[in-house]
Amino acid sequence: LIASLEQVDQTYIMVKPDGVQRGVVGDIISRFEKKGFKLTGLKLYQCSKDLAEEHYKDLKLKSFFPKLIDYITSGPVVCMAWEGVGVVASARKLIGATDPLQAEPGTIRGDLAVQTGRNIVHGSDSPENGKREIALWFKEGELCEWTPVLTPWLR
Ligand code: ADP
Ligand code: MG
Repeated sequence: LIASLEQVDQTYIMVKPDGVQRGVVGDIISRFEKKGFKLTGLKLYQCSKDLAEEHYKDLKLKSFFPKLIDYITSGPVVCMAWEGVGVVASARKLIGATDPLQAEPGTIRGDLAVQTGRNIVHGSDSPENGKREIALWFKEGELCEWTPVLTPWLR
């Protein structure tokens, strides 16, 4: 198959607590499904402060770090692993700019959010971080390798 010649990546996508509270989980999942990516992990999860700090460790010195950790641990999140050709960069496009007011209409943040500190969704910024974050948020046995039988044209 043509697609098999291309690099298949994994990304970690997370609906943040405000996305869960506002009832847009289905809308967000739907956008990745419709684009043509493959879901390999999914759970609703209340994360610890330690896990949130490890996930965002590169931002530890930022002034907003404590608020960010409070935000991410304020309620359950939806953890997802998605797989596909170019999925990391494509997911970042589907998500839109960090500041929702700068995010284009049509993107998740552009359509559904207003504040940077309440921007409803996370997406890994590189294939390396995709792997790192999936390993951080999921235990072995929570991820599924599967072959879509009805949509061979997508990969
Ligand atoms: P992104 O989520 O788009 O990759 P960053 O990695 O730069 O953005 O930041 C991680 C998260 O930290 C953002 O999604 C947002 O929730 C929060 N954040 C970033 N910058 C700020 C800020 N200036 N004030 C408050 N929260 C911020
Ligand atoms: Mg980031």
